[in-house]
Amino acid sequence: MKIVIVGGVAGGASTAARLRRMDEDAEIIMFEKGPYISFANCGLPYHISGVIADRESLLLMTPERLKEMFNINTLVNHEVISIDRQHKNITVLDEKTGKKHIETYDKLVLSPGAHPFIPPVAGKDLPGVLSLRNIPDMDEIIEYINNNNVKKAVVIGGGFIGVEIAENLQHMGIGVALVEMLPQVLGLIDPEMAALVHQHMALHKIDLALGDGLAAIEDLGDGKKAVALNSGRKIETELVIMAIGVRPENTLAKEAGIELGARGQIETNQYMQTSDPDIYALGDVSQIIHLVTGKKTGVALAGPASKQGRIVADHIVGRPSTKFVGAQGTSVVKVFDLGVASTGLSSAALTREGIEHKNVIVHEKNHAGYYPNATELVLKLSFNDEGKILGAQAIGPDGADKRIDVIATAMRAGMTVYDLEELELAYAPPFGSSRDPVNVLGYAAGNILRGDMKVIEWNQVADYSPEDVTFLDVREPIELIAGKIEGSINIPLGEVRDRLNEIPKDKPVIVYCAAGKRAYFAYRDLVQHGFDVYNLTGGYKTYGIAIEDKYIDTTKKLEVKPVVTAASTASESKEIKMDAPRIKVNATGMQCPGPILKLYNGIQEANPGDVLEVSATDSGFANDVKAWCDKTGNELLSLDIDNGTYIATVQKGGAHPIASSSAAGSGKAMVVFSGDLDKAIASFIIANGSASMGHQVTMFFTFWGLNILRKDTYVPVKKTFVEKMFGWMMPRGAKELTLSQMNMAGAGTAMIKSIMKKHHVDSVEQMIQTARENGVRLLACQMSMELMGIKKEELLDGVELAGVASFVAASDDSNATLFI
Ligand code: FAD
Repeated sequence: MKIVIVGGVAGGASTAARLRRMDEDAEIIMFEKGPYISFANCGLPYHISGVIADRESLLLMTPERLKEMFNINTLVNHEVISIDRQHKNITVLDEKTGKKHIETYDKLVLSPGAHPFIPPVAGKDLPGVLSLRNIPDMDEIIEYINNNNVKKAVVIGGGFIGVEIAENLQHMGIGVALVEMLPQVLGLIDPEMAALVHQHMALHKIDLALGDGLAAIEDLGDGKKAVALNSGRKIETELVIMAIGVRPENTLAKEAGIELGARGQIETNQYMQTSDPDIYALGDVSQIIHLVTGKKTGVALAGPASKQGRIVADHIVGRPSTKFVGAQGTSVVKVFDLGVASTGLSSAALTREGIEHKNVIVHEKNHAGYYPNATELVLKLSFNDEGKILGAQAIGPDGADKRIDVIATAMRAGMTVYDLEELELAYAPPFGSSRDPVNVLGYAAGNILRGDMKVIEWNQVADYSPEDVTFLDVREPIELIAGKIEGSINIPLGEVRDRLNEIPKDKPVIVYCAAGKRAYFAYRDLVQHGFDVYNLTGGYKTYGIAIEDKYIDTTKKLEVKPVVTAASTASESKEIKMDAPRIKVNATGMQCPGPILKLYNGIQEANPGDVLEVSATDSGFANDVKAWCDKTGNELLSLDIDNGTYIATVQKGGAHPIASSSAAGSGKAMVVFSGDLDKAIASFIIANGSASMGHQVTMFFTFWGLNILRKDTYVPVKKTFVEKMFGWMMPRGAKELTLSQMNMAGAGTAMIKSIMKKHHVDSVEQMIQTARENGVRLLACQMSMELMGIKKEELLDGVELAGVASFVAASDDSNATLFI
């Protein structure tokens, strides 16, 4: 039997080798239009940067060795240009001589792969506008970089290949901007998971332009180019890499009348036979069944291609023992220090497909937290009401691939989320946990299905207002520094049981913590006390990073900056005093709020000017440390990431009021109950005075005191008749306050205001402004707001809604508490 193979890389070469193993007598001829066969496409981006140093290591096989080892005839630089199905022959063009010849076949195997899609934009053919598919492409990119001393590059496309190229160019010291038309990179994962990748890429100085498409590439002369985007923005660069996606190489098949699917891949059956039974198609060019949707699709991944090679060879030699039942798109990509892996469909894709499902997100350690260098994994599982697993995603510096491989296997075996609970996985502290993250995902999903936990997702939070639900934050007060859901009340988990009476029972409670676990504990307590509760899955970490995903700003100025050092967000602009003592704070393996508490304690013991070097593996740390430093007057000198560990250098502030106050525990707490002008003046004089002496001041406004914080303009908000009446009767803001005594129909108030002016005493409005600038926390008592019908929108910007817990926490940190 004579078998002719078109394409000599992943699918073609694996078919050829298996054929020989199965049939010693077959005549096997393989045509490859490029100069190389069986090269490692997946390794190409890593040789550009030199991470894979040896170019030869990418060439897994040569035609000579293939002949010698397997007696396979391989002709490189030979393109198959047509198929004559009737006479069972093909026409081959020798690219070197330009000569054509005809080759007959008994069986023809098509594995021509897929080519990069290059959009028809102006400037696409300029020198230095390149794409990456094979070894010659890789050589061309390296040569262009070296010959032109490239220092700036723009990658168009945020899929696997684009992201890998961006990382590798950056690794070479080339500044990179990455443009992606979708609002996120890596479209196979969900937006809140992609947000983690965005943050990580930004930490590594990749300038992200998301939600913006390529419009044109302009030639600026002298090798320089401007990448013009649909938003009107332009990015100056020297190199452009097109990585927009791939299209199946289907011309041969199409012209031969072989059936194609809707997306251009070649229709195949489970033995990879096309509509012509003597012609097989495999790899990127073939159409297969997606195992989750049951629909026909294409999957451009190396794994399916090489497995299909075996199946094709076996079928040709009459061993139809194996079938290709379909693919679920299991994939993994390295993004600097992160592994990003997924299998099945994302929630977004399931929704697009109209597949009903539920999601759960957990944050777990890759191995026992107490064993050194534990890092965080974020895992998401999508499943249906019967517990069928529909998709999973995992992100983390270590172990994402392992968890996704386990779940991918479970999906293949038809296992459910209940089986994930039961899986017995290898454990010792350096490798995992006795409850592996996969088990924990199973527990969390099982809890939902058994009705033990109702969840809402980060993107549903905006559907609820604090008027309709109670947002209950069960984190420790110090964690709130990372942000919180507007209008939430804070009762740390340990206090929930004793403070149930502070939580309204007449409306649902959305409970959250940092990652979801403490919220689940609170949830179980609350439901057993008759509350209607929902847990925010993935916690504030997921919510916070998803809503702050700020790279989708098409007005942001883009500029490819040369890479100065390794990843760093702040070090460029700030001078680090190298002689300042460095205090190492190891918070690796700790979950929020552990790292921030360790930093806080370290700062307490340090002297002003000392530099603390904090290492942490908690994924929320990057955000938390920035917010914490901003709010405490300590300076974040640099934030780097090394192998999944965040390293922040923080210089203890000296002069800043809050820096020393938080260290000393010498804050002042005040309950401002009165809404009288004279008492408001007194409150703010004390507050500003204390703040200027370096004390943290917290003012808790309740009842009549709330009027001080009202805006002086009318704010249209929905109110009941009684609330409206109250609103009309009460002073609208500091301007309308009156004296507690000797008001004399307003004459006394006017007199005191004029005397204050004469003596250059600030008005209350100015005092409020000063207080805010000094970092005084203005808390509005949520309970009194409800009683008095005052809405959040009516209060000055920057005022925090709070429950008594926040005040008590502030009071605990203070050495004086005043009631005014
Ligand atoms: P290919 O391996 O592309 O082989 C097709 C060959 O056919 C080509 O060499 C082509 O020149 C030749 N050819 C085409 N037409 C003709 C013709 N008419 N005559 C003769 N020869 C022809 N997948 C992963 O799973 N993981 C990864 O990390 C990963 N990384 C990648 C990184 C890069 C840069 C690229 C380009 C791809 C990557 N892939 C990855 C995808 C993976 O390489 C492909 O899915 C896989 O190679 C497909 O195998 P194939 O045989 O269908 O096509």
